[in-house]
Amino acid sequence: MRPRTRPKSFALVGALAAAGALFADHHLQPNQAVQDSLTPDSVLADLKSGNEKYVALQGTGFELGQRREAATEGQYPKAYVLSCVDSRVPVETVFDQSIGDIFVGRVAGNVENEDQLGSMEYAAAVAGIKLIVVMGHEGCGAVKGACDDVKLGNLSSLLQKIRPAVTSVEGYAGKTSKDEAFVNDVIHANVKRTVADLRDRSEVLAGLETEGKIRIVGAFYSLEDGSVTFLDN
Ligand SMILES: [Zn+2]
Repeated sequence: MRPRTRPKSFALVGALAAAGALFADHHLQPNQAVQDSLTPDSVLADLKSGNEKYVALQGTGFELGQRREAATEGQYPKAYVLSCVDSRVPVETVFDQSIGDIFVGRVAGNVENEDQLGSMEYAAAVAGIKLIVVMGHEGCGAVKGACDDVKLGNLSSLLQKIRPAVTSVEGYAGKTSKDEAFVNDVIHANVKRTVADLRDRSEVLAGLETEGKIRIVGAFYSLEDGSVTFLDN
């Protein structure tokens, strides 16, 4: 018996799958024209809407094959996110982004250093990103370590970079990482401080921001519900 209807059904299923894949990749494929059309505010709105999808557990599937193939032609990313290394903060996923969309710089406690600054300057002045996000997160172990002034090998010097944020919080003396509200205050202070440091220590970034070509913003990631709150700075 010939399965007369099968070829048609398969064709239909194939067409629907292809259409589904196209619709699933709701973000525009990064390219020069798309990047040129972006502004710091439109990229911020894009990240906010991506995060809303993630919070609602409705992150969009991407056509990874298509993205990977396009990536060999060059990159036209829209943002740079400086994040902690914490395994619970998967940056691309949190903002519903894919291959070619964002640069991600990671270091425990999301502090800046010369190498991060150099990477951001490349991203902004050469690769054309429009937005830099410094993102701290709830329950940050590096910040807790800095609150307790932990000493451990090479970690000690890294934690010293967070200490100014600790001592900037009113009434810090005598407080430890056991005080959740205090840790939370330090996480926010650390993000704001890092944002200010980027402007102070990079003429390239400060210049691009003054010209309106990029924006630098702070943010806080909630482990509890996956939401990212952008901070005033
Ligand atoms: Zn952390």
